[in-house]
Amino acid sequence: MSSHCKTAITILGATGSIGLNTLDVINRHPNRFSVFALTAYRQIDRLAELCLRYQPVYAVVAEQADAARLQKHLHTFSCATEVLFGEQALCEVAQSDETDAVMAAIVGAAGLMPTLSAAKAGKTIYLANKETLVVAGSLFMQAVHEHGARLLPVDSEHNAIYQVLPKDYRGDLSEAGIASLILTASGGPFLYTALSDFAGITSEQAVRHPNWSMGQKISVDSATMMNKGLELIEAHWLFNAPADQLEVVIHPQSVVHSMVRYIDGSVLAQMGEADMRIPIAHCLGLPDRIVSGAKHLNFTQLNGLHFLTADFNRFPCLKLAYDVLHSNYPAASCVLNAANEIAVAAFLNKQIRFIDIASLVDSCLELFSAQPALSIEELLVLDEQVRISAQKWVKTHTCK
Ligand code: NAD
Ligand code: MG
Repeated sequence: MSSHCKTAITILGATGSIGLNTLDVINRHPNRFSVFALTAYRQIDRLAELCLRYQPVYAVVAEQADAARLQKHLHTFSCATEVLFGEQALCEVAQSDETDAVMAAIVGAAGLMPTLSAAKAGKTIYLANKETLVVAGSLFMQAVHEHGARLLPVDSEHNAIYQVLPKDYRGDLSEAGIASLILTASGGPFLYTALSDFAGITSEQAVRHPNWSMGQKISVDSATMMNKGLELIEAHWLFNAPADQLEVVIHPQSVVHSMVRYIDGSVLAQMGEADMRIPIAHCLGLPDRIVSGAKHLNFTQLNGLHFLTADFNRFPCLKLAYDVLHSNYPAASCVLNAANEIAVAAFLNKQIRFIDIASLVDSCLELFSAQPALSIEELLVLDEQVRISAQKWVKTHTCK
């Protein structure tokens, strides 16, 4: 492939788990991809290393002072990367004429505006930031369709489903002969923990996921299974699937990454090692298959494949997400997400207990969820109001 055919990629959240896995895949295919922009929040040292190695046109960080420090550092190494800062700069590198594709891998609602900018600029979007769809699924999908963006799911479950859907799937389950979409979930580190021990779960235990190595927030979300709840909402928007055609099944081995159940009784699954480079390489390579660096499955060494029902007593956050999906309030999922972000941060900060996460989200849903469809600006205001209220809840429930 000649160099002018290279896909120029912006990686939003380049210093995170998905960002680094993306660079690992890109690195294996120097003739296919070039790096246009890399962004990070405050991990300046890590971003500096990445800039020296990949020489992007732009780097973006959150704060002006960090940008100045990084720029100076890069100059001393004769690196021509221009350093920008702030949310507007994130949006600019995501929508720039010089980028073909955007890896949306910022964590949380902070990823919404830049990912939306990429959609409005008609980019190819590799979507890891599920919170974009949870906060503003309707508006985001509308932007994707109106501006002809190409949306490819990176989240392993949604990528698995995407791989086993009919190639010409147009967002109509019944037209495609599909009975349901089945999201698999590992069950996280506390699948077999006695419920009586849940109150004492520490953040160190919660971030230690049995199968996947991921950022802290999604690791806690996996432990509460809020992650699967967010993924239900993500699947709803990506595949136009109603709540009653979305199943969740616990599969502790994380070999089957999700499935599509067809009306004739066939179930198609995608399998592989628990390695995010697989869905990332699938998205980046389309329509080709490209090497990801992941190990290949060895079937004779698998320790069985087991499937269990998800218990709402153990995982109340999953129930809350189902309730949101069933509710008639379109902005409720924005409330769910904002409350969860504050709850997870407070838990990681040792201010609240593991079991308080669901209580805090539930209390915010009761206060705020009765919202009509909102504009982006209104959603951002709601998001902020929920965060303020959730912080107050944290203050009154802070454990000693
Ligand atoms: P991470 O915490 O490892 O990395 C997050 C990245 O976003 C970092 O580069 C960080 O600097 C940046 N960031 C954080 N807050 C920011 C802010 N306010 N503004 C701008 N940038 C900010 O997270 P991760 O595990 O890579 O997850 C990223 C996204 O991908 C999440 O939405 C997560 O749910 C999703 N995802 C992750 C995995 C995984 O295996 N890690 C799998 C599926 C989906
Ligand atoms: Mg997932």
